[in-house]
Amino acid sequence: MRASQLYAPTLRQMPAEAETKGHKLLLRAGFIRKAAGGIYTYLPLAWRTIKKIEQIIREEMDAAGGQEIAMPIIQPAELWRESGRWDVYGAEMMRLTDRHDREFSLGPTHEEMVTALIRDEVRSYKQLPLLLYQIQNKYRDEIRPRFGLMRGREFIMKDLYSFDKDVDGMNTSYQKMFDAYTKIFTRCGLKFRPVEADNGAIGGGHSHEFTVLAESGESNIACCTKCSYAASDEKAELKPLTAADEELLPVDKIATPGAHTIELLADYLKIPVEKTIKAVAFADEADGRLILAFVRGDHEVNETKLLNATGALHLVMADDDAIKAAGGCPGFMSPIGIDGAKAVVVVDATVANMKNAVTGANEVDFHYKNVTPSRDFPAFCQIADIRLVKEGDACPKCGAPLTLTRGIEAGQVFALGTKYSEKLNARFLDETGKEKPFQMGCYGIGVGRTMQAAIEQNGDENGIVWPRAIAPFEVAVVPINGKDEQQLSFAQKIYDELKTAGIDALLDDRPERAGVKFKDCDLIGYPLRITVSPKGIENGEVEVKVRKTGEIFVFAADAYLTEVQNLLREL
Ligand code: ATP
Ligand code: MG
Repeated sequence: MRASQLYAPTLRQMPAEAETKGHKLLLRAGFIRKAAGGIYTYLPLAWRTIKKIEQIIREEMDAAGGQEIAMPIIQPAELWRESGRWDVYGAEMMRLTDRHDREFSLGPTHEEMVTALIRDEVRSYKQLPLLLYQIQNKYRDEIRPRFGLMRGREFIMKDLYSFDKDVDGMNTSYQKMFDAYTKIFTRCGLKFRPVEADNGAIGGGHSHEFTVLAESGESNIACCTKCSYAASDEKAELKPLTAADEELLPVDKIATPGAHTIELLADYLKIPVEKTIKAVAFADEADGRLILAFVRGDHEVNETKLLNATGALHLVMADDDAIKAAGGCPGFMSPIGIDGAKAVVVVDATVANMKNAVTGANEVDFHYKNVTPSRDFPAFCQIADIRLVKEGDACPKCGAPLTLTRGIEAGQVFALGTKYSEKLNARFLDETGKEKPFQMGCYGIGVGRTMQAAIEQNGDENGIVWPRAIAPFEVAVVPINGKDEQQLSFAQKIYDELKTAGIDALLDDRPERAGVKFKDCDLIGYPLRITVSPKGIENGEVEVKVRKTGEIFVFAADAYLTEVQNLLREL
């Protein structure tokens, strides 16, 4: 490919609307253009990278026994009604109606579709396991589309669905996908961690997220500093902390004028926040149930854990009237005095171990001191791990400190069990002739998100730094003077040799100044740049610059090819 023919409109100015490094660079380096919020055109450079990522994914899916298919994007509402998700999916699902008033969705995911596909055709255990996948656009009307391809409303996803005859089979398929994902992200040249994940609304059994490590990521992950444990912050399990042994004192009601926050309270009483208990009041959006969560003063409520502990569908902030109706007093709350019939009360397991703590008295400007929850809290309190992990918390596996890092969820694997096969009545006959629902798994990778994640992780102030495997071109050959015939023909010769050696090269034949071309090379992020200069031609030398390290090598013109291959192998 010649740069003079390449449609890569680079921008000199930083696009104002872009928020993250990857989003800015994709726009500036001429990879994508916005059509509407969360909806983008992929320009030639982006499409080359997308195709390379897809190719890696295809090879690994096929190697793991997957078979590629293409299901429709437009899906009939009836299928979603069968699974019960037509209503549950809510506003995130893009919906449309045809000329006969029949309802459809633009597929946000394909569990229903693929289950319906096989339910009437796959009848015997002998046809299992079956692993079907596709790579296509998905549609989700995200509440906040942002960060370019990171959270789009139209995005490319690889989704594979596994069907097995029993739980062991499902676990084998899960492990195969786990291993394939590890290979995919390794081959893409990314630093990543598979982390234990909450399985969210999609439901079912266990799950891992493949998180690409990057500061700009939206995911917080907790990694053990000693063992291999890693989990998303939503999931990270925490052993309850124990309180020091101390004599239990009788509860005492005290005046705490104006101390309606934990900080004011600790300040007023001159006690550490660790001695206080705080409340956060929620309501379940589905049925309006009041849910009161209690954690230690210095801890935060983990809403995902709270959802799981209560079976709530979606948490919203409770309103004060509901709290008061249940006997609570906003700002001065504790379970003592709450009407157990009017609220679900969940106490964090660490709180349950506290001794002589301070908690609200459900009365304005009053608290109780010397509260020992195991002795003083009403019996209807549910005790559960509902707090959010923080830096230094103990690893649930080995006890060493956990550290928190940020990352981008680029892929996720789920063991679904029979959630969808039961709902859609998809059954087969097992060895004994008995009808059984399929054991399923689903496995997604965001292709565009993976591309942008690579930039978020590896970009620098000059532009993108592509890992070689997913770079739009591996090497750019740049004559210093594009109008000089001798330089152009020397560059052409190198370009031809690179192509013959199977290297994906670009010839920058544009009649631009060298500085402009060098800047574009850095911005677009080709792993290697070969510079052709009059001096090099005269000395029979080729200059190679490594984008990632900035190193410059000079090789003899008759030996450079092997050196370039060696350099590429490392990138
Ligand atoms: P998130 O929690 O970020 O909303 P998700 O858990 O809903 O994502 P999945 O249903 O697991 O996403 O989809 C599989 C993969 O598809 C994700 O790991 C991610 O890489 C990609 N993906 C999901 N939503 C989007 C989006 N709005 N834009 C781009 N990629 C996305
Ligand atoms: Mg996910």
